Amino acid sequence: MIPFHLTNYAFNPNVIPPLIALVALGALGIGVVWRERASYPSRLFCLVTLTVSVWLFAFAWMYCAVDPATALWWAKCAYLGVPLIPAAMYHLTIVVLGRSAQHGKTLIAVWIVAALFVVTILDTDWLIVGVQRYWWGYYPRYGWLGVLYLPFFFVVILASFRHYLSAYRHAIPGTPASHRIRGLLIAFSVVYLGSVDYVAKYGIGVYPFGYLAVLAFVILAARAIWRYRLIEITPAVAAPQILNTIADALLVIDRESTIRLANAAVGTLFRIDERALIGQPVATALRGTGMVEHLVEHLNEEARAQDQELSLTVGSDEGRVVSLSTSILRDSAHQPIATIYLLHDMTERKRAEEASRRAHVALQHSHDELREAHLQLIQAAKMESVGRLAAGVAHEVKNPLAIILQGVDYLAKRLNGDEQTTLVLRYTGDAVRRADAVIRGLLDFSTARELEQTSVSLDTVIEQALLLLKHELDRCHMTLVRLYADSLPLLPLDRNKMEQVFVNVFMNAIQAMPQGGTLTVTTRVARLDDMSQGVGRRKSDRFAVGERVVVAEVDDTGPGIAQEMLDKLFDPFFTTKPTGQGTGLGLTVTKSIIELHGGFIRISNRPGGGARVTIALAIHGGTNGHQANPDRG
Ligand code: ADP
Repeated sequence: MIPFHLTNYAFNPNVIPPLIALVALGALGIGVVWRERASYPSRLFCLVTLTVSVWLFAFAWMYCAVDPATALWWAKCAYLGVPLIPAAMYHLTIVVLGRSAQHGKTLIAVWIVAALFVVTILDTDWLIVGVQRYWWGYYPRYGWLGVLYLPFFFVVILASFRHYLSAYRHAIPGTPASHRIRGLLIAFSVVYLGSVDYVAKYGIGVYPFGYLAVLAFVILAARAIWRYRLIEITPAVAAPQILNTIADALLVIDRESTIRLANAAVGTLFRIDERALIGQPVATALRGTGMVEHLVEHLNEEARAQDQELSLTVGSDEGRVVSLSTSILRDSAHQPIATIYLLHDMTERKRAEEASRRAHVALQHSHDELREAHLQLIQAAKMESVGRLAAGVAHEVKNPLAIILQGVDYLAKRLNGDEQTTLVLRYTGDAVRRADAVIRGLLDFSTARELEQTSVSLDTVIEQALLLLKHELDRCHMTLVRLYADSLPLLPLDRNKMEQVFVNVFMNAIQAMPQGGTLTVTTRVARLDDMSQGVGRRKSDRFAVGERVVVAEVDDTGPGIAQEMLDKLFDPFFTTKPTGQGTGLGLTVTKSIIELHGGFIRISNRPGGGARVTIALAIHGGTNGHQANPDRG
């Protein structure tokens, strides 16, 4: 039977004061939880207000009840909260005073007894035998169980009170702790005055003004809590939270190598539940975490032996990097009792460092390439203007030179007999011919810019050049070795200009071996990456790595080229030959022709002595039939 019908109730003005106390109490409970950020003590405080609220709420309905049955129902409802009041207060007291460790068992006993009272009171009429009507409304009457219930209630309340009293005595005067304890002591002593409500339960008509005590408690407790808070922020209170806010993993390992403390970061670092580590030997606890188990043990011994601080960086099988530092924890007698390990996960940092190092290398590489390309561009521009200048000069000088030469030859024929004059004319003729050679070289260089391409095999071009030099080769007793590839793809080449290239290269080789030697010509198809060292390795060449090329190598057994000259060989007018023998334009023209064909030329010294000229021409994906003009030869 639940008396939820409105006819069971009539308004009773005596209900107003307890209702006011109820509202104020509820507001305080919620306010404290909010203010203390739902801390454990604040939730306990709220529980206290809740148990008192149950009592006030049920009694308000009981006062308004018009019949004894309804009043009795509400009187019993109140006891869902009333026996729990001392238990909740006791709980709050020992938590706020930091005494839960010593009084935990008592606390459990108090809660069990309180719960037993609730069940018994609701289920039997041993405590509440009925209701009695007073001038303020219906009120419960106690039976025999009151003999047990009231002592329980007051003893527990007294115990809380004594805790506050002793804590207050031990608190350092003037500190927030002492102020808070005093404030709560006063607030709780006042609320005990609410016990006056028990008098009417024994048939004595004393008005139950316990709500006044509750109101006073609200005011006093609110004041104490607002000013001094429920919990003092001491190192002991803050330590566990501070440990868990540290990003580094912190382990405390005692002298027996047992883990005594591990913060939340340990769990994150080792991907385990850090609470499971406590009390375990370090070697077994960290087994399977893939790192540092033996290390830690080893370090522990070392740190113990040395009694000092250690720090180092260690890696794991999973590629993680952890920096570790240790320090010694000492007791009050300064005796070492444990080692503190601080582990900092450096994996991300190391990865970032590695990435930035790689980026730096790549950047350096691009920078070098850019520089190289820049230099080549400058060189190309230089060549361009030198070529234009050379062409202009050569054109102007060519015809007058021809006339001078004709004149010299004519005079030589006419002035027969005079030996002195004949000699002068011969020298003059030689000088003019030398000048003519330079002019022709300059013209070659400047006209090298336009190509007339036909499909032709490189072997054919080489053979043609060798034919032109047959006399020269024989004269110098040159041994000629041909190592041609079986079949070379046809290439779009300007035959005349490519012949000129090989004539230049062969002439240089012949001139490097005046006493005779071996000239070896090799041709082959190659991929750029498997070509001999130093060739086609650099990206600035116009080839992609892996591209197919036709390669011709011209090796001689001459003296080779001095290291400091290798860079200058292709410069216009660079020559080491005596005046009259070299113009220094041969390789300049050669290079410009090769590059116009989209190829490249390198000159290097052979390991066994002598020079090697390497010429590579791209196949560009096709052989026969891809060229615009068919082979004329
Ligand atoms: P020139 O032959 O008129 O001197 P080049 O441009 O053809 O001009 O050659 C420039 C220089 O390169 C030569 O003077 C010579 O010192 C060097 N050279 C070229 N080829 C060889 C070679 N096979 N052996 C040694 N030196 C060489």
